[in-house]
Amino acid sequence: MGRTVVVLGGGISGLAASYYLSRASCPPKVVLVEGSKRLGGWIRSIRGPGGAIFELGPRGIRPAGVLGAQTLLLVSELGLDSEVLPVRGDHPAARNRFLYVGGALHLLPTGLRGLLRPSPPFSKPLFWAGLRDLTKPRGKEPDETVHSFAQRRLGPEVASLAMDSLCRGVFAGNSRELSVRSCFPSLFQAEQSHRSVILGLLLGTERRPQPDSALIRRARAERWTQWSLRGGLEMLPQALDSHLTGRGVHVLRGQPVCGLSLQAEGHWKVSLGDSSLEADHIISALPASELSKLLPAEAAPLAHILSTITAVSVAVVNLQYRGAHLPVQGFGHLVPSSEDPVVLGIVYDSIAFPEQDGSSPGLRVTVMLGGSWLHTLEASGCALSQELFLQQAQDAVATQLGLKEQPSHCLVHLHKNCIPQYTLGHWQKMESAVQFLAAQRLPLTLAGASYNGVAVNDCIESGRQAAVSVLGTGLNS
Ligand SMILES: Cc1cc2nc3c(=O)[nH]c(=O)nc-3n(C[C@H](O)[C@H](O)[C@H](O)COP(=O)(O)OP(=O)(O)OC[C@H]3O[C@@H](n4cnc5c(N)ncnc54)[C@H](O)[C@@H]3O)c2cc1C
Repeated sequence: MGRTVVVLGGGISGLAASYYLSRASCPPKVVLVEGSKRLGGWIRSIRGPGGAIFELGPRGIRPAGVLGAQTLLLVSELGLDSEVLPVRGDHPAARNRFLYVGGALHLLPTGLRGLLRPSPPFSKPLFWAGLRDLTKPRGKEPDETVHSFAQRRLGPEVASLAMDSLCRGVFAGNSRELSVRSCFPSLFQAEQSHRSVILGLLLGTERRPQPDSALIRRARAERWTQWSLRGGLEMLPQALDSHLTGRGVHVLRGQPVCGLSLQAEGHWKVSLGDSSLEADHIISALPASELSKLLPAEAAPLAHILSTITAVSVAVVNLQYRGAHLPVQGFGHLVPSSEDPVVLGIVYDSIAFPEQDGSSPGLRVTVMLGGSWLHTLEASGCALSQELFLQQAQDAVATQLGLKEQPSHCLVHLHKNCIPQYTLGHWQKMESAVQFLAAQRLPLTLAGASYNGVAVNDCIESGRQAAVSVLGTGLNS
């Protein structure tokens, strides 16, 4: 009889792992187990009035690099090409990103000319930050916080305004705690390989061959910076679900895994409340802290490592306004922690993807709330009401964008522990986990946002790599 691989977690990472397993020339039996009633994890798109799309989680995927191309290839394999909504290089949402500092929106400079000009909120042209980077010696530490790295290489203003905001925008996290090696590996590698971040990024470190397809060539020719899908990004997990069912993968929904135990001959028993499954191998695409609670005593050292990979919460407030206009055109703006501890940033959804406005168009924006403010509220045990988040979001769009009217439609969601935090030394945790699994020969492979990247592209790649390591061979195209 063939092997059975059980994939835990039906977010994009678990779906991707199941997809790549199911495409092997001689696929194992694959069972995907999801605890909730729906697949997709944090990827969730809701239709509002007139069919407008409201994204509760990710809203744009980057096409750049090998991983961006890999995801576009997956999109084509799933037959979704005609659903793709690109943000082309000449679009305002591709060119314009803002920082909200000192009570005003500031356009981030782009291109060489932009770097040479004075660019508030920075006191000097960013050219000087570049010059500093070109002249500074290579760092000697095996890891460093994002803040310390940026301060050393690019100066205190870039560290406390730009990188602080970026950490809030991508990780909802604190640049003084997050690891540059794990959160921004391309910056870390650039310094290691070329002594300078700028030289490293210009000369490139990606050596892997890019996948190729008509969609990937189009994305390159039109210089896409992001893309979404006409019906929202949730179309991607939905298409994966249909594909898996067609390939004979057993997809179990509403079945939270409540324990894992090792049987004789190295098999796993996966406990699901009142039933159980046998597995020759497990791919876990669960959050690390969730997996740590399920592992058996034999894996206690691994469980301990995983329990230290924590995650932070984000409150997502989607707002729609009838007849309102933004003061600027762009993808959105980020807010450094020194400016506002509550608001991480605001995305101007209607600018990037007007096709998702629906038949009774209104301006859609999304306010992301989090950071130390939300962390302190959660720790204090205060009741976290939807009214509080809505009020904070409305205050933010009124102050930062001048939208003072009442929204015609709003959605408020608190996503608890939704973004893993790769804090200083995360790489050591990863090495220890890999060493433990190898030394114990545990038939367990880790995938998902907790480990090597939180972006959708990273998660799909983690699922693909997990499938490759289980199959022990390359994958069929
Ligand atoms: C608000 C927000 C905005 C984001 N924006 C972007 C963006 O614009 N672009 C981008 O690239 N990325 C973005 N991301 C990041 C990206 O969406 C996530 O990192 C990614 O979706 C995580 O996928 P995952 O499969 O690893 O984990 P998850 O989505 O967390 O999936 C894990 C799954 O495991 C299930 N599960 C948990 N416990 C159990 C159990 N005991 N038994 C069975 N199942 C269980 C859960 O129900 C869930 O379905 C965003 C994330 C958030 C939260």
